[in-house]
This record gives sequence, C-alpha cells and structure tokens, in this order.
Amino acid sequence: MHQNKWQELEEKLFLRTFSRIPLTLVRGQGARVWDDSGKEYLDFVGGWAVNCLGHCPPVVVEALEKQARTLIQTSNQFYTIPQIELAQLLVQHSCLDRVFLCNSGTEANEGAVKLARRYGKLYLGGAYEVITAENSFHGRTMSMTAATGQSKFQEPYTPLPGGFVSVKYDDAEAIRTATTERTCAVMLEPIQGEGGVNVPHETYLEEVAQWCREKSILFMLDEIQTGVGRTGSLFAYEQCRVEPDIMTLAKGLASGVPIGAFLAKEKYSLFSAGEHGSTFGGNPLTCAAAYATMRYMIDNDIPGQVNRVGKYFTGELERLQQQFTGIDDVRGRGLLLAMEFSEEVAQEVVMACLDKGLLLNKLRPNIVRFIPPLIITEKDVDEAIGILEQVLTERSEEAS
Ligand SMILES: *Cc1c(COP(=O)(O)O)cnc(C)c1O
Repeated sequence: MHQNKWQELEEKLFLRTFSRIPLTLVRGQGARVWDDSGKEYLDFVGGWAVNCLGHCPPVVVEALEKQARTLIQTSNQFYTIPQIELAQLLVQHSCLDRVFLCNSGTEANEGAVKLARRYGKLYLGGAYEVITAENSFHGRTMSMTAATGQSKFQEPYTPLPGGFVSVKYDDAEAIRTATTERTCAVMLEPIQGEGGVNVPHETYLEEVAQWCREKSILFMLDEIQTGVGRTGSLFAYEQCRVEPDIMTLAKGLASGVPIGAFLAKEKYSLFSAGEHGSTFGGNPLTCAAAYATMRYMIDNDIPGQVNRVGKYFTGELERLQQQFTGIDDVRGRGLLLAMEFSEEVAQEVVMACLDKGLLLNKLRPNIVRFIPPLIITEKDVDEAIGILEQVLTERSEEAS
C-alpha cells in the first residue's frame, strides 16, 4: 500500500517498536473512524479495547472540557474531588474497598505486585514470589516483562527481575504445585487477552481462589483488558464466582485518557504514607474522564448490552466457522472475541477487511481479535460480519 507523508515521517522519527498498518487516522465518532483521505471505517480495534464508549463519547468530551477549564493537575499533596468521586464509584460497584490511581495498566500491575510484597513481608515471613501464567500479558516494564509468561517478550531483556514463577494457564493443580513458602500471591487474567483470548474452564478461577484462601496468599486479578464491561459484566470476576483480593484496571476505564488503577480489599490496605505514589496518578482531568465513563457505563447498563451483542456476534462468527474451511476456533466472551485460523492468514484477512472499511486486530499470525467499542449494536455486527464474510468468500474462491 502507498505510504503517505505521515507514514514516511513516522519511519524516520520513532524507535521501531510498532508494526503499524498503513493507515493514518484523523477523526473518530462512535464506532467509526476516518483516515486522512476522508475514508470511513468501522472500528473493531477500539484503541486496543480502550474506546469502550466509542470515539469521542459526548459525556466524556463534556467532562474533559469542563474539567480542563477548572483544574488539571495538583499533585497528590492535596485533596481533589474528581478522584474521590471516581474511587467512590469503583468501590460501590466492585467487591473491593480501596483504590490507588496511576497512569497505565503496567503501572497498576507494578503497584499491585508491590502491595503483594508488602503483604508477604508483613504476614508471610518475607514471601515475595508471585505465580503468573504462561501466555499471560501484564505489561512492559522490566518487572511486568518478568511477570508476563511469554519468552518472546523476555528474551531480549534478560536478566529480568526475579520473584515471578510461570505456570500453565487454566491448570489449578500447576498453581498448587508451584506454591512454596516463598509465594505471596497468584496473579491471573480472568480471560487471557493478548495471549490469545484464552477462556479458562468454568471452575478454574474458583479453584485457584480457594487455594489462595487456604494458603493465605493473595488472589490477584489483572482485569486491565477484561474489566469495565468488556466481557458482559462490569468486571469479569463477577461471572466466575470469585472475589479478588486485589484487582487491576486500565484500558477502558477513562475512554482513552491514560489511566490505571489497582483496588484492594480493606484488609490488604497495607501501604503506609510514602511507600507508593505517582505524580500524575489520580489527576482531576483523568479522573473526570474515568468518572464520566464509568457513570455512563453503569447508568446505561452497557455490560448488559455487551452480553447481548457479544452473544449475537459470537453466533455470527460461529456461522462463518461452519461456512468456511480453515477456521479452527471462535472463542471469547462479551466483546473480547477471537477467530483462529488453521494457517497464518491473519494479516491478509486484516488487510482485506481494512480495504473494505473494517478495522480488525491481528493478535497472532493465525488469530484475529475483535475488541470493538462496547456501544456497538447488532447492526454494526452485521456490517462487520458482512465484510468478513465477503473477504473469506473471496479467499476461498481464489483458493479453488
Ligand atoms: C494491556 C494490558 C496490560 C498493559 O497495560 P498498558 O496500559 O499497556 O501498560 C496489562 N495487562 C493486561 C491484561 C492488558 O491487556
């Protein structure tokens, strides 16, 4: 595809960390975005599961405008109202009691692991190890790279910080076996997002939570991707009959304004003043966006809509799986879905859909992920499925 001047400049200016698609986006509204030539796309990437209320949702834009004119940043040396209102909303609508606000998912996980280390030092004789899962994704700092159970992210940076043990996902026995006197916590995604949209067995989290309780180690859930309505409930744990001791959030929480949060049960409120902190974390501007997002999500039962539209979408993807050869699996929950192909065709499928006005995410060479805004309707799904079906039809015609 022809590269425009922005893409040429990008090639010159940036460290080469992203394999971008040759598309320069300039505007968004709802589930639609427009490129620099004015072409419209239906966006089923959603800023990587971030734009939960769609692009530029009016309630969030209004909250940002108002807050930007009022107060943007003060430092946490002072009390500010938007962060308190946000924390109140998060506590009211989750099983957790206390909140720490930061600026990204990785940072939320870092803080959660620091809290687990405090717990280990105070109550478990200095236990410090956190058990995480293979194919997990917890972020990009050195520690979260160590926590992430994927060697491709780790090998370029060894030696990594210690204190993480990686075990098979969806295998409670593996966690029981890996638990030692050094273990202070288990940290899992309720559904692995980046690792392939891997949905564990129905009882997995329950079994792990039970084990953690028995051993008095912390049960931590990374809900950075699954939280904030994505899987059809406000938080994914609600569908798994468990309550995490600590939960991390980020992605969808503030509709695209950078934010992270970790929440803890009252009895794990173990930091004292100065033991953790953040310059930007909890600033009024970010918190106004997050509050507006969460308020809208709750008041309009967006998780209920996700549940309904997600089931419809899954059914339609399964129909395509029946209809075409070479589709091995359709999986996920709510609007965190994936289609796995038997061959490495994800890039071609993504590019062909792009051409027809649908944005999709290549998760692996053979996996396409669907993480659209949570406000999409059945009609948007029909449009996306129509394009995908057309692309798959053309591919199968070419093959025969
Ligand atoms: C995206 C993601 C992260 C990292 O979040 P950043 O905001 O990119 O730092 C961590 N955990 C999970 C499950 C994620 O999906």
